[in-house]
Amino acid sequence: MKAAILTVGTEILFGQIENTNASYLSRELNNLGIDVMYHNTVGDNLNRLTDNLLHLLKECDLIITTGGLGPTRDDITKEGVSIAINKPMVLNGDVKIWLENRFKKTGRNITENNYRQCYFPEGADIMLNDNGTAPGMINTINYNDESRYLITLPGPPREMKPMFQRDVIPFIKSLSDEHIVYEFVRTSGIGESLLESKIMDLVDEQTDPTIATYVTYGEVYLRITSKRRTAKEAHDSVTKMIEILKSRIGRYIYYVGNKNIEEIVIEKLKEKNLTVSSSESCTGGMFGETITKYPGSSEVFQTSLVTYSNESKANILGVSKKTLDSYGAVSEETAGEMAIGTNTVSKSPICVSVTGIAGPGGGSSDKPVGTVCFGIYYRGRLNTYKKLFKGDRNSIRKQSVLWMFRYIYEVLGEKDEK
Ligand code: ATP
Ligand code: MG
Repeated sequence: MKAAILTVGTEILFGQIENTNASYLSRELNNLGIDVMYHNTVGDNLNRLTDNLLHLLKECDLIITTGGLGPTRDDITKEGVSIAINKPMVLNGDVKIWLENRFKKTGRNITENNYRQCYFPEGADIMLNDNGTAPGMINTINYNDESRYLITLPGPPREMKPMFQRDVIPFIKSLSDEHIVYEFVRTSGIGESLLESKIMDLVDEQTDPTIATYVTYGEVYLRITSKRRTAKEAHDSVTKMIEILKSRIGRYIYYVGNKNIEEIVIEKLKEKNLTVSSSESCTGGMFGETITKYPGSSEVFQTSLVTYSNESKANILGVSKKTLDSYGAVSEETAGEMAIGTNTVSKSPICVSVTGIAGPGGGSSDKPVGTVCFGIYYRGRLNTYKKLFKGDRNSIRKQSVLWMFRYIYEVLGEKDEK
């Protein structure tokens, strides 16, 4: 199945809002085994929207639009769809009642404008909106005796995502009798090119399961995907490939499964009933921010100290002046004392620290930009590490956070699966 994502909104073209809907939908469709061929964006302009839809309908089985479903005159998505698929706009009585009730409940007055949201191209299946007033719709179209699906979703991500999860995923799954199973294989200590060279023949030969390599923030991982008639067949095919990969690159694999490192660490900490605390310099609180994104992190995360200056490293964490003077703020020695100091302050059984040069300035020949030092203190044992990351400031900071999680993962029990 070939798909396109068409985001609607002049704000996107102006660069005023980031097009996160397109990346979200692409990822989700990819997980469903659907190839996304296009990301298009048009402003709030009826002609260009209609032309785009007509063009995409020629090539794609599935088109998903976001945005332009609101009550105002510049919200033109449904009109564009109505013209492109040649179905008149008709009033949907059920939606009218739903909308009136919604307004009643929230104590607001319904305006004439709002009734625009009750009209849809004839034959559309309506998806009510739990988080806003704009319903979405699924249009099934006969296009030269082939089926095409044109789905419209609201623009605000907090309305769009729940609607996609609740209605669109089951709809898409119902179109196919294939089952998709995928699993990630996460590696450590091996670069992308070496990894690829070790499994190149598998990647080239395989049609099912497929193996895709990804690199994000310095981590190389594989995604093994199988599409079969039954879930069991797909699952078996993935499992078999993972066994082959283990025999080839087993010593680099640290995790097989569908979670990311943050989720794995949180889960393990919960299992072992442990808490973690951190002290951060170059990441400025990003570790705390990352871990607290996950619901339930309160069970495992205790304290985060942002000790950016030398003074705060010394005063709050007790890093000695001698260490700072002789080794510098970015050193394994300082990172180590930071981790121990974090333990003194927080009493968390696991304490992790980070200090580094995120750039673009501040580098030197023996400590170039990207030099980042870590300390991890657990059960009275201290480990320190020094890494050199490539990339811009943001990337270096993100890689640092990723490695903090990996060091915690390491002390929680070497090489583990699921
Ligand atoms: P509304 O009823 O709020 O008008 P709508 O379906 O008409 O919803 P738009 O008016 O196009 O949607 O966009 C509303 C808001 O949704 C935008 O201001 C923006 O915050 C967010 N949004 C729209 N499109 C995108 C997108 N592609 N990526 C991320 N956010 C988006
Ligand atoms: Mg709008």
